[in-house]
Amino acid sequence: MQHIDLIVQGTLVPMQGKDILEDGAIAIHQGIIKALGPSAAIMATYSAQTTLAAQDSFVLPGFVNGHTHVGMSFLRGVADDAQDLQSWLQDYIFPLEKKFLSEDFVYWSTTLACYEMIQSGVTTFADMYFFEYAAAQAVAHAGMRAILGETIFIMRDLVYAQEFCNALKGYSPLITAAVAPHSLYSCDAQTLMQAHDFSHTHDVPFIIHVAEQKNEILTLRKKTGLSPSEYMQSLVLLSPRVIIAHGVHFSDADLAIVGKSGASIIYNPTSNMKLGSGIARVKSMQEHGIAVGLGTDGTASNNALDAFAEMKTGALLQDLCVEDYCKPLTPFEVVKLATIDGARALKMDHKIGSLQVGKAADMIIMNRQDFAQLPSYDVYSQIVYASKSTDVQTVIIDGKIVMHKRRMVTLFDKVAQLRERIAHYQKAIKNI
Ligand SMILES: [Zn+2]
Repeated sequence: MQHIDLIVQGTLVPMQGKDILEDGAIAIHQGIIKALGPSAAIMATYSAQTTLAAQDSFVLPGFVNGHTHVGMSFLRGVADDAQDLQSWLQDYIFPLEKKFLSEDFVYWSTTLACYEMIQSGVTTFADMYFFEYAAAQAVAHAGMRAILGETIFIMRDLVYAQEFCNALKGYSPLITAAVAPHSLYSCDAQTLMQAHDFSHTHDVPFIIHVAEQKNEILTLRKKTGLSPSEYMQSLVLLSPRVIIAHGVHFSDADLAIVGKSGASIIYNPTSNMKLGSGIARVKSMQEHGIAVGLGTDGTASNNALDAFAEMKTGALLQDLCVEDYCKPLTPFEVVKLATIDGARALKMDHKIGSLQVGKAADMIIMNRQDFAQLPSYDVYSQIVYASKSTDVQTVIIDGKIVMHKRRMVTLFDKVAQLRERIAHYQKAIKNI
């Protein structure tokens, strides 16, 4: 009998293929999945410090939120009258950020975001915001896995982002620093090229918003005569390190260029609907060989960081497509977007995204017998269309239990102070 840290029993939904395993178990030791298989076989081989017997539940890989802005959580609901992305940015977000952004704001906003994401089963996310060093402290305390991209508008920001990437080396095995130029329209060519050079030399991800709204395409064409992907190609900004948020208005030619480059795209359905951006063509992206993940975007344009809400909205939005503009996704394909495909999009699929021996023990235990989920004829349809974030019971990241039976373990000590900071900023923002 081998003694290990943790055993999780339940119906395994490994996301390695479509197959599920009823009455399965997973053996976890030192943060890694050591074995998985029929419960009887695992229990006969291993004994553990802790056994989570969740036979009436699904065990899934933790969800991957491929694009968000965790430091903006205190701006939830501040811009709901905005008509489009430009009004959202110029009339609401930029002025508030100018007034309130600080390390304290980002630290506590990130703590709120981590709390909300863990409660909906997210174990990994890719972020893009400011004061990411403060975010890193909050993320480390929450015990989450993340790529943290320092946002860049001008050259001075790039210097700061480079310092941040260097400072974060060795900070936490769960946190990867990144450079994150805001967009093609808000950064000059020199800054974009140098940011990509840095990402190449230091092997860090490069996160950027591209082709989010139609206007952006028209303006770029007027200025340069190029489409977004042609412009990126001309500046040598496309490589496997690049994670593109949105890509809503990419043409087939754009998708072919992105597909060849190895860059990935994150689909943010709620944010795209809320800001009137349009519908990303997920299937076409995939047909061009692009790894596509699912993202919530930030709370100021969503207004939630809820993996289940995003899966359902993401599926429904593709259903709305007419003629051959885009194609519906099956529930299995949608769960893939939120797990293994999301991991591929972040270039982390060697480590996370599926329940597989040798991968990190990032997983969730969720209800499968709640009345609102029943009857169930297909596991994936049950997860995408009939389940909610409140069905997530327990969350494990890197082999550590961060939420158990909906009680927060890692962030429990921050709750009182978090409430106080929310009240403080809410009052200050209301009063301007
Ligand atoms: Zn965004």
